[in-house]
Amino acid sequence: MRAMLLRGPNTPFEKVTLPDPAPGAGEAVARVITCGAGLTIQHVKAGRRKTTFPRVIGHEITGEIVATGPGVLSLREGDPVTAHFYLFCGHCRYCVAQLEPLCPNGRGNVGIECDGGYAEYIKLPAHIFIKLPEDLDYKNHPAEVGVITDALATPLKVLRRAEIKPGETVAVIGAGGGLGIHQLMMAKWAHARVIAVDTASSKFEACRKAGADETVDASHGDVAVALRELTRGQGVDVVVDYVCTAATLEAGARALGRCGRLVILGGAAKPFQAPALDMLTNEQAILGSRYVSRSEIMQALDLAARGEVWPLVTVLRPLEEAEAVHDLVERGAVTGRAALRVG
Ligand SMILES: [Zn+2]
Repeated sequence: MRAMLLRGPNTPFEKVTLPDPAPGAGEAVARVITCGAGLTIQHVKAGRRKTTFPRVIGHEITGEIVATGPGVLSLREGDPVTAHFYLFCGHCRYCVAQLEPLCPNGRGNVGIECDGGYAEYIKLPAHIFIKLPEDLDYKNHPAEVGVITDALATPLKVLRRAEIKPGETVAVIGAGGGLGIHQLMMAKWAHARVIAVDTASSKFEACRKAGADETVDASHGDVAVALRELTRGQGVDVVVDYVCTAATLEAGARALGRCGRLVILGGAAKPFQAPALDMLTNEQAILGSRYVSRSEIMQALDLAARGEVWPLVTVLRPLEEAEAVHDLVERGAVTGRAALRVG
């Protein structure tokens, strides 16, 4: 099969031919149609997220099952699928409670600890694949469908994690990024008042199109002061921080109003100081949010199938152009999401 292979950290993709994978017991193989190219896997390519090489990266797939191994009852040849990002066990108390990213028996991530979607075929444990709903038009929109597992599912999970209610004010830090812009979209869908915070003012028009009512340029002035001004001094109900430097987290904490919630998602995830007295007095909360459950992916797929929300993919190039696409991702030059067409 054709594949784009990484032989080490911070090296270019190499176009190679690898043996077609064959499914073992409990495994399935899918033909990959498209695969998303997001910042998570750019961190692997750039060596900021450690793994072993050689490696085929990529996990935001749209594909069709072509073969199943012994004991696989849940999938058949021809089933359209996407995939969860975590190699969870499926049986522990966390998996059973729909908290798969917290699985203590997990074997890492798709496309990082095992080979992923930058190849004609992908082999995974069968329970990592997720069947697409029948009414989701994956044949005409494979790139959009493939990125739903993160771009829509992660913001959907945040709505629930932070208990975002209609009419609340939600500020998204890193709003112009691949996840941030979809968080604006989902917060608007949830009838919140939405404020986009970013240093790239060139992305504010896209932020407004995605649902932002207001924008705050974080490269000028104090973000917490700007957010307080936009809420008549009351502070915002929820800050969702997709950047997570000490500065953004501290600004987010200072911007919270009474019963405010600060949600931490990946990014730099640096240590920060929080105003404990304000948090106590105003009953504020700090929440970590780690990817999504299988169930949340299925719900996000259903929302897209019904046309309630739809992911924004602005870059779709052939697999062989992976290097150029990753350059764009590294430079933050993609609005919404990028993807590669594989087959
Ligand atoms: Zn588990």
